[in-house]
Amino acid sequence: MTEETIFSRIIKGEIPCDEVYNDSVCLAFRDIQPQAPIHILVIPKKPIESLKDAGPEDKELLGHLLLISSKIASQQGLTNWRTIINTGEEAGQTVFHLHLHIIGGRKLDWPPG
Ligand code: 5GP
Repeated sequence: MTEETIFSRIIKGEIPCDEVYNDSVCLAFRDIQPQAPIHILVIPKKPIESLKDAGPEDKELLGHLLLISSKIASQQGLTNWRTIINTGEEAGQTVFHLHLHIIGGRKLDWPPG
């Protein structure tokens, strides 16, 4: 069974969040430690630990997350932004519930650190 994470507790409403979008499949809220003027996390309500744990049955869910993240970015007034999925500790993943970062509102360097 997937372990409880801070994000599953946010989904259950046990921990508050600054919500920007909510539907039957996903929830989006502002990151508590923003790395840019706009920094939003989009998480599936289904508890998938990492992108590598998603399977063919999650194809529609993954497409939904991407399309919703684009819609949210536009609603936030962004025309340029970055969508990031950190997968695994060495890639910077700290919360093991799949999430997309939407980061924008400033010039973003490449390559990332
Ligand atoms: P990761 O490093 O796993 O890709 O991203 C996890 C993100 O979750 C981090 O950017 C971190 O700031 C954010 N985060 C961790 N705990 C909380 C929380 O309780 N509330 C919110 N809104 N964001 C959180």
